[in-house]
Amino acid sequence: MTSENSYWVRLDKALSIEIERGFINIQGEQYQFSEYLRLSFSQSLSDKTPNSKKQRWLQFAERYASYSNLTLPQRKQLIIETRQFLHKLRQDFEISVKRSDYRQPKTSTLINIESILSDELNLEQYLHALQGIGPRKIELLEKIGLETIRDLLFYYPRDYINYARQVTISNIKEGETVTIIGRVKRCNFFTSSKNKKLSILELVVQDHTGEIKLNRFFSGNRFTNKGWQEKQKRQYIRSTVIAVSGLVKQNRYGLTLDNLEIEVLDDFNSSIESWNIGRILPVYSLTEGIDNNLIRKIIISNLKSAKTILDPLPILLKSKYDLIDLKDALINIHFPTSLDFLERARRRLIFDEFFYLQLGFLKRRQERKVLKTINSFTPNRYLTHQFNKLLPFELTKSQRRVINEIIKDLDSLQSMNRLLQGDVGSGKTIVAIFAILTTLESGYQVALMAPTEVLAEQHYNKIVLYFNQLYLSVELLTGSTKKSKRNEIYRQLLTGELPLLVGTHALIQEPIKFKKLGLVIIDEQHRFGVEQRTRLLNKGKSPHVLSMTATPIPRTLALTLHGDLDISQIDELPPGRKAIETKVLIGNQKQKAYELINQEVIQGRQAYIVFPMIEESEKLDIKAAIEEHKKLSKEIFPSFSIGLLHGRLNALEKNKVLNDFRDNKYQIMVSTTVIEVGVDIPNATVMLIENAERFGLSQLHQLRGRVGRSSFSSYCFLITSTKTPNTLEKLNVLEQSQDGFFISEMDLKLRGPGTILGTRQSGLPDFALASLADNKEILELSKLIAEKIISSDIKLNSFPLLKRELQYRSMRL
Ligand code: ADP
Ligand code: MG
Repeated sequence: MTSENSYWVRLDKALSIEIERGFINIQGEQYQFSEYLRLSFSQSLSDKTPNSKKQRWLQFAERYASYSNLTLPQRKQLIIETRQFLHKLRQDFEISVKRSDYRQPKTSTLINIESILSDELNLEQYLHALQGIGPRKIELLEKIGLETIRDLLFYYPRDYINYARQVTISNIKEGETVTIIGRVKRCNFFTSSKNKKLSILELVVQDHTGEIKLNRFFSGNRFTNKGWQEKQKRQYIRSTVIAVSGLVKQNRYGLTLDNLEIEVLDDFNSSIESWNIGRILPVYSLTEGIDNNLIRKIIISNLKSAKTILDPLPILLKSKYDLIDLKDALINIHFPTSLDFLERARRRLIFDEFFYLQLGFLKRRQERKVLKTINSFTPNRYLTHQFNKLLPFELTKSQRRVINEIIKDLDSLQSMNRLLQGDVGSGKTIVAIFAILTTLESGYQVALMAPTEVLAEQHYNKIVLYFNQLYLSVELLTGSTKKSKRNEIYRQLLTGELPLLVGTHALIQEPIKFKKLGLVIIDEQHRFGVEQRTRLLNKGKSPHVLSMTATPIPRTLALTLHGDLDISQIDELPPGRKAIETKVLIGNQKQKAYELINQEVIQGRQAYIVFPMIEESEKLDIKAAIEEHKKLSKEIFPSFSIGLLHGRLNALEKNKVLNDFRDNKYQIMVSTTVIEVGVDIPNATVMLIENAERFGLSQLHQLRGRVGRSSFSSYCFLITSTKTPNTLEKLNVLEQSQDGFFISEMDLKLRGPGTILGTRQSGLPDFALASLADNKEILELSKLIAEKIISSDIKLNSFPLLKRELQYRSMRL
């Protein structure tokens, strides 16, 4: 339970052994008995101990110093006196624990379990070391991950019951948790005649506004004992003042309190001593065999070790940014003295969750920048200038801003590591070409890697158009590239004749060597593993890296996942793009969508029909797609030809289907979600998505982006059979917005970060308290403070506590 307790237990044990052995001043492992006692009594007691006791305590130290000179009876006498004294001290301590139990709101050290001995508790100490928890409980606690005192303190409640609100009896309302203080008007205790195991304490309590009838139920034979019941009743004789906390509930006789806790008070003005009455109570996630009261008790008895925690956060920063001290935060997250304090505790602890993450990111990022430098680029701007002239359109403001950010990085002496986020069609490829040309101008080569052949080919096709006009060469390397072609590519890369290679994983799977690789571009970077990226980077000497994604994620998520990257965002579409008219259709309204598809195809356009795919049941999904394909071909659109694309096709087959669709050999394409991010077939103007509720918003937005790629009006139908308001509300977001950043924000709010990222590669840290949807401000603050600290001392040598905590937390991740 407490360190004092274990301390006493050790002293007591020493005394017992000495008695058993016949007062021979036994030799322990380290000390002789008398020396051990002398040392123990030389430790100072806490300030709260009365002076008389302090003096006696120290006298014992003196007396044990001369123990070896005492006669046997004198030794016996001394030991008896010692035990009596310790017993008293311990009683005092236990009472002081009870009295001081959280009855000091408004001060910052809210909990005042004073130790009698100086505190030696160590946060990393295992719970085994504590008194009062048996091995079985310890095992259960370990099951929920609680092994050390630190684990316990950082095991935050999942909820609270607020008994802090004290109300008069006439003011209670059903459903509220309250505390009332009143006088006992009547008390009765009896065993139910219907259920012999159930005993009931019945109280009628009164205050100046009214009265209320309360029942407390006791189940089990041991409560049926008449004598015991009488004893209970005597506590509640007429006029006794009691405080009662509970949940207001309606029963046959009117309002009453449920789950009640009662404390007898001296009078109306005396304070409540119980830790579970009249305050805000924590509610924890439990496991079988561990109830809330047990966890509360264990945590309370360890909360005082929170006082020994030194806050790693510099005090000036704390006061400047209104962050409370770590120990106060820990104490108040468990046993808040007010809702306000709870809020401040949460703020501080959420801050910490973000802060150490940001600190780690920034530290790594700075270290990398200091270490790795690339030969400096000296671009002559000739190619970029020419390219600018070739462009048939004006760059958007976002594109210009992002291009500048990238070129600035490329011109600097440090390796770029930047993520470019932009919605489908926002013009990322153009931006990438600027980065490529800047690299070529300095005499370096570029590798661009995309996750699929289709995407690689599309990039290649776009780039080659411009490269031809700039008299530059570019090659495409995929699994399907012919051997002779491949060998020629290897050769040209080695001599440096080939400045740009676009391709798939083939780029890293094959024995490719560059003469002078200066920039690596990775499209849809989240589809590659760390190792794959690293392998591409290792083909140059710390080349610049530009990652791209058309799946924009909210800034909070980006900071949490990619805090070690610089982030550029293209947050507008080129002008003149028409919004894709989006409609949610329920069940049999699907006919409307089919009619529209019919019209569009007759006018020469094309359509996608997409079925969701869930990894576990890929087979079934494919089967559904195949059957639907049959049905659509035979019954619904018999005069059109319909292609079918699914995950079981190999790359070659997929390419053929897609190319045939591109060539309008199919008017409609039925597909599982293998329809790739970035597939660009401008003539397609309708996207129909079946079982839309099975997708995340970001994913739906991504799919929708397959249409609206031309000057024709485009349409998206989200078909769903569920009528739950939540689902419809979610899908309606897509009817209303075309902005990928906004949609991903909504996705984050509605479904949490996991679904935006796809569970497979989320890599998100577990936050106990922080929410990426709701705690933006704190996240930004944590980043700001981390930046301040790292810029003042990248090695953190002047912040040893921070350094240690950072190490500790990154180890745990
Ligand atoms: P993303 O890769 O972000 O999906 P792309 O770079 O492929 O977008 O651009 C989509 C289409 O928009 C391309 O046809 C491209 O030529 C065109 N485009 C890019 N930037 C602009 C712009 N500023 N104004 C008009 N059209 C643009
Ligand atoms: Mg693109």
